[in-house]
Amino acid sequence: MRVGVLGGGQLGRMLALEGRRLGLSFRFLEPSSPSPVDGLGEVIQAPYDDRAALDRLAHGVDVVTYEFENVPVDAALHLAERVPVHPAPSALRVAQDRLLEKEAFRDADLDTPAFRAVETLEELREAVVDVGLPAVLKTRRFGYDGKGQAVLRSEADVAAAWDLLGGVPLLLEAFVPFRRELSILGVRGRNGSSAFYPLVENVHRGGILWTSVAPALDVDPALERDAESHVRHFLDVHDYVGVLAIELFDVDGRLMANEMAPRVHNSGHWTLDGAVTSQFENHLRAVCGLPLGSTASRGPSAMLNLLGDVPPLADVFRVPGAHVHLYDKAPRPGRKVGHVNVTGADAAQVSERLAALEALAAS
Ligand code: AMP
Repeated sequence: MRVGVLGGGQLGRMLALEGRRLGLSFRFLEPSSPSPVDGLGEVIQAPYDDRAALDRLAHGVDVVTYEFENVPVDAALHLAERVPVHPAPSALRVAQDRLLEKEAFRDADLDTPAFRAVETLEELREAVVDVGLPAVLKTRRFGYDGKGQAVLRSEADVAAAWDLLGGVPLLLEAFVPFRRELSILGVRGRNGSSAFYPLVENVHRGGILWTSVAPALDVDPALERDAESHVRHFLDVHDYVGVLAIELFDVDGRLMANEMAPRVHNSGHWTLDGAVTSQFENHLRAVCGLPLGSTASRGPSAMLNLLGDVPPLADVFRVPGAHVHLYDKAPRPGRKVGHVNVTGADAAQVSERLAALEALAAS
């Protein structure tokens, strides 16, 4: 089968590396060059709204999917008139707007922090009264990795937050005193069957994912089943096909949804070495209409993002159980240039090995 992919970053690269093993071939639409998918399929270098390039992407492929969610919904709709597009463009629309996202969580009975849409300073003042303080003001669109956000701790912060972010549609949400951040990755096939990876615990640095521990420790199985059943409902309601990631706050055992990604996700990179079937393979199986693979973990594991630069591989490989994945990207401060997965006999050993890797990456 031939798969078209909107986007050609590291997620596209890992989809292709996994998919080529299954005999799939790839064509990408990616605005920049060079890109991490160079050499892994045909790369059409053009903007996402270039209709002729979209037609070339669609021509002769069996399905189109995304590895990046900030592509224009119109581009996905244009493609969907020509070829099956999974996940559906409606999922993309929801994921691009924090208000639609929060409403979709609420409709699926997924707990989420209290929120209000805000368009004017007056509405911001009203929302502060409704939601209470502290609160977080976020741009509805194009916010990621903590960009486009301001925390309001007191009334005195309202005007400054408005000055920083006002002028575009915003969302005010309650600040949640979370104990930790988790994520859940689900996958749903074309035939409606779904499966879930174990909950993962994520640590961010400077707004960027730093580590994931999989499976997360100290998770109440009843709570995990509950989260799965709500996400399954969400997937079914949206007739969703592919991998969906939802970031969650663990607030003293209560899980609250923060945001979703309609694609494979950084907090699922551990699955390449720590799960029976990787998120990349399962996403491809789903969008190609193939049976899903087991989402079970193969044992304790963790992932460390390599940000900015790659530490010497000789040092990394001195840590037993380290599996290196590099993205063929030039070094640049804060840029995700690769990740290391680490496995071990038990959670304590994985934690020790992860700490050794973190020391290398930070040095
Ligand atoms: P986001 O861009 O929504 O993923 O937010 C980036 C980070 O800001 C999250 O990973 C949290 O650490 C923090 N954050 C976002 N929303 C909230 C909230 N409602 N309460 C507390 N912290 C938050």
